[in-house]
Amino acid sequence: MTTQQQKNTIAKPRKKTTKKKIQEEVYNSITPRNILFASIAGLLLAIIIIICNRCDNNDNKQVCYCENATAPIHPKSKFRDINSEQLAHAQTNGLKTIIKDKKQFESQLDSLIEEGILVKIKPNKYYNIRRLTHSYPYLTPEARDLLNLIGKRFQANLQAEGLPKYKFQISSLLRTIEFQRQLTRQNVNATYGLSAHYYGTTFDIAYDKYDRRGKSYQDPKVEAILEKTLRELREECRMMIIRESSNKCFHMTVVKLKNDK
Ligand SMILES: [Zn+2]
Repeated sequence: MTTQQQKNTIAKPRKKTTKKKIQEEVYNSITPRNILFASIAGLLLAIIIIICNRCDNNDNKQVCYCENATAPIHPKSKFRDINSEQLAHAQTNGLKTIIKDKKQFESQLDSLIEEGILVKIKPNKYYNIRRLTHSYPYLTPEARDLLNLIGKRFQANLQAEGLPKYKFQISSLLRTIEFQRQLTRQNVNATYGLSAHYYGTTFDIAYDKYDRRGKSYQDPKVEAILEKTLRELREECRMMIIRESSNKCFHMTVVKLKNDK
């Protein structure tokens, strides 16, 4: 017998003893009380898993927009939320009184900002704002947050595809009735009557051009990434959205949670 074989022969009974001890400890620990604790823990874990699967956990905010939105919305990946559906969210979450014209806008702006109802939208690392002819660069704080969320996800998705950081372009934001009337004479997508753009909850993102280092580019690959990003967010019920081909933009209205102030 070699030295190694001798060692193995000696070691075997020790292993058996240790195994037996562990088995005994395990058997002893199975008491009705421990079974009850384990069952409760298992049940809680199952509830947490169900909740996590049903809710989004984006930006450290564990919430379910589809279930807790202030107006009806169902998860989907299509960009077909018509005006009346977007209006339901805009009217619930946006300006309570729509603005008639430039004069009224200028007289009310300071108080709307002071009360936290509107915030100014400025170009940042995620987007630029086109020269605005029929809207003002103001939105509700939730719509501003949505813009930044889109920007953050868009750049993350670009990076995942090995593409550089492009900014998207915002083409329209808050409108007055006066602006809307001027638009309806020009384009078929500007809704007669009530537009979601009246409420500060709604904005347009152009899909035909993207900015990088001070220049604008057309790139189907970048456009596809923006679409993918918006589809993801629509599935999470973060906004109502429609594609407006004649204006080459996505028209969208922010979705707000019932308990958000
Ligand atoms: Zn629009």
